[in-house]
Amino acid sequence: MPYDIVIVGGGPAGLSAAIRCKQLAEAAGSEVSVCVLEKGSEIGAHILSGAVIDPRALDELLPDWRETGCSLA
Ligand SMILES: Cc1cc2nc3c(=O)[nH]c(=O)nc-3n(C[C@H](O)[C@H](O)[C@H](O)COP(=O)(O)OP(=O)(O)OC[C@H]3O[C@@H](n4cnc5c(N)ncnc54)[C@H](O)[C@@H]3O)c2cc1C
Repeated sequence: MPYDIVIVGGGPAGLSAAIRCKQLAEAAGSEVSVCVLEKGSEIGAHILSGAVIDPRALDELLPDWRETGCSLA
């Protein structure tokens, strides 16, 4: 399957990159297809967290994340 962008790894870095690519394309009035390849059984399966969150990066990437029903809020 052809994609414009393929990102290996569905951790925070890979998912942020995928979201940012889609945002930049939308802002430019175009569309890109993005594929995230994750070796875990599902996205998030290999992410380790002690639930300590600095939300600054999330605020920059998705300013409305608190209003969208995100389970972190
Ligand atoms: C025990 C522990 C607790 C932590 N607690 C916190 C916390 O409370 N707060 C915090 O902010 N940070 C915490 N961290 C740090 C946090 O987990 C990392 O900073 C963050 O996950 C890094 O994101 P990343 O996307 O760079 O890498 P990763 O999260 O490691 O994501 C990489 C992804 O790529 C996938 N992958 C790797 N190779 C391939 C391949 N060849 N093909 C396909 N997929 C592949 C992996 O399965 C993984 O899902 C903790 C880390 C550990 C180890």
